[in-house]
Amino acid sequence: MSDPALLSNSYRTQPDDRGHFGQFGGRFVAETLMPLILDLEREYRAAKADPAFAQEFEDLLEHYVGRPSPLYYAERLTAAIRAGSEPGKGAQVWFKRDELNHTGAHKINNCIGQILLARRMGKTRIIAETGAGQHGVATATVCARFGLPCVIYMGAKDVERQQPNVFRMKLLGAEVIPVTSGANTLKDAMNEALRDWVANVHDTFYIIGTAAGPHPYPELVRDFQSVIGKEARAQMLSRIDRLPDLLVAAIGGGSNAIGLFHPFLDDLDVRMLGVEAAGEGLERKHAASLAGGFPGILHGNRTYLLQDDDGQIAEAHSISAGLDYPGIGPEHAWLKEIGRVDYTSATDEEALDAFQLLCRTEGIIPALEPSHAIAAVAKKAREMDENQIILANLCGRGDKDIFTVAEALGVRI
Ligand SMILES: *Cc1c(COP(=O)(O)O)cnc(C)c1O
Repeated sequence: MSDPALLSNSYRTQPDDRGHFGQFGGRFVAETLMPLILDLEREYRAAKADPAFAQEFEDLLEHYVGRPSPLYYAERLTAAIRAGSEPGKGAQVWFKRDELNHTGAHKINNCIGQILLARRMGKTRIIAETGAGQHGVATATVCARFGLPCVIYMGAKDVERQQPNVFRMKLLGAEVIPVTSGANTLKDAMNEALRDWVANVHDTFYIIGTAAGPHPYPELVRDFQSVIGKEARAQMLSRIDRLPDLLVAAIGGGSNAIGLFHPFLDDLDVRMLGVEAAGEGLERKHAASLAGGFPGILHGNRTYLLQDDDGQIAEAHSISAGLDYPGIGPEHAWLKEIGRVDYTSATDEEALDAFQLLCRTEGIIPALEPSHAIAAVAKKAREMDENQIILANLCGRGDKDIFTVAEALGVRI
């Protein structure tokens, strides 16, 4: 249990007016970017107070994305977990089925929100960064839907590694610009996107893909993704008239996790667990910024980062491309610090096992990202009582990952 006194004294569900969640967050950007950031914040406040904005967002989520996503009791997975548990142990496992969204993951929720904001601000050109290409695809999707030109910055190395997503973006009409600076990967693509934004402020909107970046991005991405937790909370109450005991979600930058967690933060009996990618192990190559990093500044905010002693950002590694972000959203850093949310990690191997377990017990092929959450769920459920409930976010589907999994299992397809 968290200490309610600590929470009531120190927990705020909103950042302060300069975007700080405790000592994390903020807006560490070039002076030339400050007016844009302030303009974005002003517009976001206005949009948040405007029922027409909410109505359009909800309408698109329903008819374009396919929301609400189902809430599903995974009976056979629960039984499999109980079979390996002591008598009386083995919590019920439920899933929020965000893998059923259009484009196959939660990222579209955020992209819809941000493109509506862009349109409201009169912006006519969209840019974004992408690592594995999933945020690039979601951004290219909404740009096609709204008829806006789209430029995606992607590290040259990632362009090579992620050809199917590069082709998807092109099919959707986006221009993909390979970035050849630094390590040619995600953080370099983020820097390039910020540079483009400074140079093209008059007409350009930058859609950030996770709950990170300079204030107000962590807040607005969280708000758009909170549809996950709002739906799940209402669905739980209407289905079984109670809330879950534990929420679990995988963490790359933390957007699907904060989207699930945030609407439950005031429910002090609901515990929460974020699962970072431990890659080959925390002593080796991994992507666990909270477990293996320390605070620094990247992408316009202060948070836990994978870095060396000189502050050079380290390359993150995970079998799941969507989790290898070298930082974590500032609100998570804060929630960890005040003890409201617990964080753990799962290795590539554990995620692969969990991936196969879900395939066989439930007939659901999950993405490798939520497979990390499922690995943690299986562990936690064994420690919990039979009458307790775990709700995990199934934030993406696994079609994109079957080749990676085949290779890891030594199967030729
Ligand atoms: C991008 C991605 C993630 C990681 O991003 P978060 O911001 O941490 O949610 C997780 N799962 C899937 C399916 C993704 O595409």
